[in-house]
Amino acid sequence: MGISQIDAVGMKIPFSENFPLNYGTEQATHHIFVRVKTDTGGVGYGEGTALPWFTGDVAPGLEEIARDWIAPSIMNDSLDDAFVQLRQFQDTFPGAYGAMAAVEMALLDLKAKRFDVPVHELLGAKLRDSIPIVSVLPAHDTDTTARKATEEVEKGYRHLKIKANGNTKTDIERIEAVLEVLPERGTLRIDANTAWKTYPTAAKVLSEINEEEKIEYVEQPVAVNRVDHMRRLWEEFGIPIYADESVNGIADVERYGNNAQISGCHLKLAKSGSLLTLATMAERAKKYDMTVSVVSAFGTSLEATANLHLASVVENLSQGVEICTDLLADSYGSPALEQAPKLSVPTKPGIGVTIDDTVF
Ligand SMILES: [Mg+2]
Repeated sequence: MGISQIDAVGMKIPFSENFPLNYGTEQATHHIFVRVKTDTGGVGYGEGTALPWFTGDVAPGLEEIARDWIAPSIMNDSLDDAFVQLRQFQDTFPGAYGAMAAVEMALLDLKAKRFDVPVHELLGAKLRDSIPIVSVLPAHDTDTTARKATEEVEKGYRHLKIKANGNTKTDIERIEAVLEVLPERGTLRIDANTAWKTYPTAAKVLSEINEEEKIEYVEQPVAVNRVDHMRRLWEEFGIPIYADESVNGIADVERYGNNAQISGCHLKLAKSGSLLTLATMAERAKKYDMTVSVVSAFGTSLEATANLHLASVVENLSQGVEICTDLLADSYGSPALEQAPKLSVPTKPGIGVTIDDTVF
């Protein structure tokens, strides 16, 4: 069985509503869809996304890397050889994580379909049948955020996440307002996206939080290179501190785990470029008693479903997975993925989601 055709399409998909965060108000998300065909009739689908503020990737770049750089290196290869070639590319090429993730996902989809198993069987042992989902709210003003949080709780979500934007006064107000509407045994994760920059500013916010037992963790409170400040916050406030922007690959997990600097980290295809690598990162994190959050960073149903496969095999999973399909104005994968407080682990062979031929 050899790879006979590879198609790659980059596109932007508008948010269903503006998504304000520390970096600015985003209007659209960046995607790449990949379709890989084999000479025996197999078809695999992959999706990658870009987080421009994290990695510098944007949709046209992802398409060009996948089409002009990766595709020629795996064309006509057997599936196994294609995995080897892709790994070599990943080891030598900086950035373009979305393109690499999309191609790898399509290869995993093909491989799992060949064995007639769901992709999670290629990632590890399935530990759960359903995945708890965390509802993510953007950094709107306090009243809007509290209203949206209430709506999410009414839908059945127990675990919420809000964004902070660096204005410490309103960040504290927003956190307190959402803590008030949390249900019993509910938790809140707060993502500052580096906005508090250094320890003193972050400490000012954390020292004002009441009901800190309801805080699941504070995510990336300080700048990317201030992981030492994360450790200090964790030690002094006893609130778990997670890294997102500071952790991309296996080496980051090892370094920060070994120095006991963070209590956990976010796993995202958009910054790591490989489902297989994310599964390894989760295992390495466990070695250091760290938990991890599997996060689909604005993927449509294909990328989001791939993340559900991953989450089903992660032992040290946090309170839940972040899926953002409801934030996007358009849905491309079939079947679509409706968000809910719990989602079932996919059972169909492969990823279990296809992309219509008209996209390519
Ligand atoms: Mg984050």
